[in-house]
Amino acid sequence: MSDYKSEIVIIGCGIIGGALSYKLAKLGYNDIVVIDKENTINKHQTGRNSGVIHSGVYYPKGSLKSRNCIDGYNQIIGFLDEYKIPYKIPGKLIVAADETEYDELERLYQNALDVGLQANHMDREDILKIDPNLVGDKGFFVKETGLTDYKKVLEKFVDVGKELGVQYLFSSPIKEITRMDKGFQIRAGNQMISTKYLINCAGLQSDRVYELSTGLKSPVTIIPFKGEYFKVPKDSYNSDVAIYPVPNPDFPFLGVHLTRMVDGTLKVGPNAVLSFSREGYDGFEFNLRDAISNFSTPTLFNIAKKYKTIVVKELLKHKSKSFFEESVKKYWNNFDRESIIGYTCGIRAQATEKGKLVNDFKIVCENNQVHVLNAPSPAATSCLSIADTIINEFENLR
Ligand SMILES: Cc1cc2nc3c(=O)[nH]c(=O)nc-3n(C[C@H](O)[C@H](O)[C@H](O)COP(=O)(O)OP(=O)(O)OC[C@H]3O[C@@H](n4cnc5c(N)ncnc54)[C@H](O)[C@@H]3O)c2cc1C
Repeated sequence: MSDYKSEIVIIGCGIIGGALSYKLAKLGYNDIVVIDKENTINKHQTGRNSGVIHSGVYYPKGSLKSRNCIDGYNQIIGFLDEYKIPYKIPGKLIVAADETEYDELERLYQNALDVGLQANHMDREDILKIDPNLVGDKGFFVKETGLTDYKKVLEKFVDVGKELGVQYLFSSPIKEITRMDKGFQIRAGNQMISTKYLINCAGLQSDRVYELSTGLKSPVTIIPFKGEYFKVPKDSYNSDVAIYPVPNPDFPFLGVHLTRMVDGTLKVGPNAVLSFSREGYDGFEFNLRDAISNFSTPTLFNIAKKYKTIVVKELLKHKSKSFFEESVKKYWNNFDRESIIGYTCGIRAQATEKGKLVNDFKIVCENNQVHVLNAPSPAATSCLSIADTIINEFENLR
């Protein structure tokens, strides 16, 4: 058993823990240890997302998501430039399927302007210039939307962190956290780590790590929502512009979108399917503890009651080509279900609290601890700005 003494322990080396370790090290903090239960990085959300650099169209002005996304967009572009990580900024079109979506489209357009983005209305003629197979008469274009590979971003955070003296311990699942007079004693894998401060960035397991380290019931319960993607033939779409539907305003997911990745791959996704396993990526996986946890909060029952069959049906449609066809053909009619190929999938850590989905990012402090309890999309875009928010909270503890 090896022993480590540290000032700050970060639990979880996803893009949030990684960005935080990078920022802390750059700011001159010492004795930082990052612990992850997996044998390497990118096994969970960070390695399995859409790769979109979001602009902040959807989030209410002043919310943490809005502030972190807009600031995070600028910071991540600076980071990608500095370390020569490939990215592109083709912009995005949000397009209404029909007139029932015009009010919500306009509300989003106004929000985009309110938060300072460059948004332009588009009519049928403008839309057809992007691709002749796009459907819809009305939409708007936002210039500040890009694509990158967040796996490479996290790799770079860790490389630079290591150069600056951060220690990264992999294959080290947290087994026990003992609260001491001045700090914590953490048993992780076969190591013992003592630390003054603890920062929980454990993504899909963040509510459980909260309970281990505080001894209190977590204010949130994570519900896992799987997002599946299909590959579409590369030449079936003319452009690099990302195409998004108008999302359901009461639901925290953006809808199945069409995006061309930095490597040229064209993909559609993700759907949002209720998962019965927080880390079950292969087909239908069932984990008893995770399934019980899903149903221990009234949130799912509240969703079922509010949206009745439509959303509930969608939440159970695992890898359904007909669901993808129905969703994508609303805005792009060159979709051919025979030519698509199953691609990657990811599982979103969506926090729920008091029977509702938590819409904003949620970061809480308890004594010598900071807990990131809700960091779903656009947290990859926002990671460097979220790291600043955590550091502010952390500074208040010292
Ligand atoms: C399908 C999908 C599409 C998305 N698309 C986008 C997008 O286009 N743009 C965008 O900005 N965001 C997107 N997101 C959101 C973004 O990917 C996540 O918000 C972000 O990656 C969260 O990072 P994280 O560090 O909190 O979590 P993770 O990447 O999940 O990392 C958490 C880490 O904690 C570790 N861990 C957990 N429990 C323990 C434990 N007990 N002990 C030790 N280690 C532990 C895990 O092994 C993991 O490495 C998407 C997410 C998904 C799932």
